[in-house]
Amino acid sequence: MEKIYFPAIIGGMKITLSHFFKKKVTISYPEEKRTFAPVYRGQHILKRDENGAERCTACGLCALSCPAEAITMVAAERKKGEEKLYREEKYAAVYEINMLRCIFCGNCEEACPKEAIFLTDRIVPATFKRKEFIYGKDKLVEDSNNRTDVSKRQTPDVLEFKQDKNLKHNKI
Ligand code: SF4
Ligand code: SF4
Repeated sequence: MEKIYFPAIIGGMKITLSHFFKKKVTISYPEEKRTFAPVYRGQHILKRDENGAERCTACGLCALSCPAEAITMVAAERKKGEEKLYREEKYAAVYEINMLRCIFCGNCEEACPKEAIFLTDRIVPATFKRKEFIYGKDKLVEDSNNRTDVSKRQTPDVLEFKQDKNLKHNKI
């Protein structure tokens, strides 16, 4: 019986038939999309403050906390008249994230003392060119006319941690 594979064929067909009437676990992406968790970690955003100025002060803590060494920046000093553009006296003239290196762990978001960087529910689109995965300020800084709500990511625990002035980390 084993040599004619009959029991194996019957067994295989039984498994196929048992799955035939079950609810499908696959979806027709991209036409159909799954609902993401509110704290899904996708493409980053560099936030602006309530007046539209960039919050990032180029302190480098996000880069330091990044296990993938995906973040690089060049700091610059704010000039007179640029107060509306940059919130602090120091700002990131260049800020880049290498999305090919990033593992979307969220450490950069947790480390930032200025509430300047957050991960969003956006997926980094696929492309064939490596250099297109280097996201600069043009892709990262929030659009002033189309703000991104990050309130779901500001958990009470994180906010409490960031307000603790006894931590050197929060004095920057
Ligand atoms: S999410 Fe993690 S890996 Fe990606 S840039 Fe931030 S710290 Fe680095
Ligand atoms: S930790 Fe925040 S403020 Fe500091 S460089 Fe990174 S994004 Fe900017």
